[in-house]
Amino acid sequence: MIAPGRAIGVLGGGQLGRMFAQAAQDMGYRVHVFEPSCPCPAGSVADRETCAPFDDMAALESFARTVDVVTYEFENIPTGPLRAVEGVVPLFPSSSVLHVCQSRTREKAWLRANGFPHARYAEALDGNIEAAAAEVGIPCVVKTADFGYDGKGQMRIASPQDLVQASAIFRGRRCVVEQWVDFEREISVICARTQRGETRAFPVSENIHTNHILDLSIVPARISAEIDGRARALAVEVAERLGVVGLVAVEMFLATWGEVLVNEIAPRPHNSGHWTMDGCETSQFEQHVRAICGLPLGPTAVRSPTVMVNILGDAWRRPGGALAEPNWEALLAEQRARLHLYGKPEPRPGRKMGHFTVQARSTAEALEAALALKARL
Ligand code: ADP
Ligand code: MG
Repeated sequence: MIAPGRAIGVLGGGQLGRMFAQAAQDMGYRVHVFEPSCPCPAGSVADRETCAPFDDMAALESFARTVDVVTYEFENIPTGPLRAVEGVVPLFPSSSVLHVCQSRTREKAWLRANGFPHARYAEALDGNIEAAAAEVGIPCVVKTADFGYDGKGQMRIASPQDLVQASAIFRGRRCVVEQWVDFEREISVICARTQRGETRAFPVSENIHTNHILDLSIVPARISAEIDGRARALAVEVAERLGVVGLVAVEMFLATWGEVLVNEIAPRPHNSGHWTMDGCETSQFEQHVRAICGLPLGPTAVRSPTVMVNILGDAWRRPGGALAEPNWEALLAEQRARLHLYGKPEPRPGRKMGHFTVQARSTAEALEAALALKARL
C-alpha cells in the first residue's frame, strides 16, 4: 500500500491531471506533475511540476525517482519512455495496458481477439480507404489509428462522393474504417481495479456528444435494468482482461437492434465520469487514487440523479464574434448546480474549459435544469 502522505507522479498536465491531483491532495498525497507545455491546469495545483518533453528520458527518470507511484492522464505518451518510468517505480495502469489503448488498431484487434462485441471494422494501414470501406459497407466512419480525440481525425462516409474525398484526405495515413452504428444511446462505464484484482464499476452514464465532443452526461442513464447490467458487466470484464490497475473507462453504443457494442477504452479518468465529483459517493478521481495506491475502493452508489454539462471555449463567444465571460452569476444562482473550471487561460472553440453539474430528484428534472442553465451561459 502506498499510504497517504506519500507522493504520486502524474504524466500529463490537463484537466484530468488537475482534478486527480486535487483528489489525491485531499487524501494527503503529494503530487508531482510532468507536462511538456507549461503552465498547465494540473501544474498550477500540484506540489511540484516538471516541464519537459515526454521523450526526455533523463527528466522522466529523475521525475520518477521523486515519487512512489506514477499514473497518467493522457494517452499519447510513447511506450518507450513509459518503460523507463516503470524501471524506477510502479506505473499504473501499466505501459502494456496503455500500449493497447493508445492505438485504435491495437484496441480494436484486442476487442476482437477477446470476444468483446464491437462495430464491424477494417484496417487501412496504408490509407487505402476504398478497400476497407468496401469490406465494411457504407455508411461508415474513417478514424486515424493514432492520436485521435474528441472526434479529431474522423470523417463519416455516407456516399461514394464522401469516399473519394476521404481517400484524398487520409491518403498515406494509418486508419481504421468502421461501420456507422445507428445507436439508441451512447453510454459509458468506468471501472476501478486494484492490484489484488478487486473491481468496482461506477453507475452507467448516458452520454450525448455534439460535434463528436461530449456535451452532456446523464445519470442514471435512461436504459433498462437489463442493458445496465450488461454494460457494467462488460466494463468489469474489460478491466479484468486488460489487467488494469487504476481506472478504465469503457465507451459503448446501445445499438438500435439491442446490442451493446464497445466503442473505445481509456485507461484513465474520463470526461463521462465528471458527474461523480458531485453525484456519486466516491469521485472517479478519488477512486483512481485508491486503486493505484492499493487502498480499499470506495462506494459507488448515485447520491442523486445528476447531469454534467461540458463548458467549451465556445461559451465565451457572443453573437458577432466578441469574447465575453459566460454568465456565471446565473449558473451559480441555481442552488442545485456546481461549477468546476480548469484554469485554462484561452477559451478557444472546442476547448474543454470546465463543466458544471446539476443534481435533482429525477433525471428528467436535472436534465431540464441543466439545459436551461446551458442556454443562459
Ligand atoms: P474519440 O472520442 O477518440 O474522438 P470516438 O470513436 O469515441 O473517438 O468518436 C467520437 C464520437 O463520434 C462518438 O462518441 C460517437 O458519437 C461518434 N461515433 C464514432 N464512431 C461512430 C460509429 N461507428 N457510429 C456512430 N457514431 C460514431
Ligand atoms: Mg470517444
